[in-house]
Amino acid sequence: MKKTLLNLISLPKRERLESYIDKAISFYGSNFSLEFTNDSLSSFSREVIDSSSSNGPVPLGKIIISKLGKTEQALVHEILHMVLPLQTEFYVSEKTNADMYNFTPVLNNIVEHELILKDFLALGYSIDDFLHQGFNKTNYGFLKNEPPLYWKYEYFRIVMTKNHVNNIKKKEGEKAIAEMKKYGIQRHPTLEASFKDIYVWIKMFKEDFSISHAQKISLLLRLFEIGEPKQYLSPNGSMQLAVNNF
Ligand SMILES: [Zn+2]
Repeated sequence: MKKTLLNLISLPKRERLESYIDKAISFYGSNFSLEFTNDSLSSFSREVIDSSSSNGPVPLGKIIISKLGKTEQALVHEILHMVLPLQTEFYVSEKTNADMYNFTPVLNNIVEHELILKDFLALGYSIDDFLHQGFNKTNYGFLKNEPPLYWKYEYFRIVMTKNHVNNIKKKEGEKAIAEMKKYGIQRHPTLEASFKDIYVWIKMFKEDFSISHAQKISLLLRLFEIGEPKQYLSPNGSMQLAVNNF
């Protein structure tokens, strides 16, 4: 596995990637795999298995790399996702093509990009190759009857993601935010306060290191009013996860 992964990395970067790959292999052990797809998008899945066994839950990680496009950059992006829980001490099960309404992994994925982008750039890769998606021109006027949860998610996604893309896409993001404020707040005036709360959370997430990643996610889920999470998983040595209370 290690050799296969390293062979996909260009020579000058191989040495620096090796420590990330070692960490992933040591944590996921034999439950770590790599697949290729003809799909245009690369992805990863991080799952939990054997949660009923006496040893507790076990992590399972899979990286799926598109054969189209820039394989190395896509692989590095996914490896950084795979090892991030070792740094944040917060392990979220996240499946490829996750249900958009399962908000914990959907929001957590956006949050993870904020953290892994720093490493991606420090390894010498370009922000142009970090994310595929831009901000498709959405007709927010058309969507004005969507419920407040839609608008909160959309606001959070774009305000966060506009910092994970190049300047051209960032401008598209800024336009989208202005449009969404216009239509969303017109239809649901309470969104003005919600957007402010989300903005304050984003600032706190980036600047306050006195509280844990898990606590930050818990605060975010409360802002979205989608139920209060009670427990979360964290890496606990090789092929092990611990269950923690928030
Ligand atoms: Zn990602």
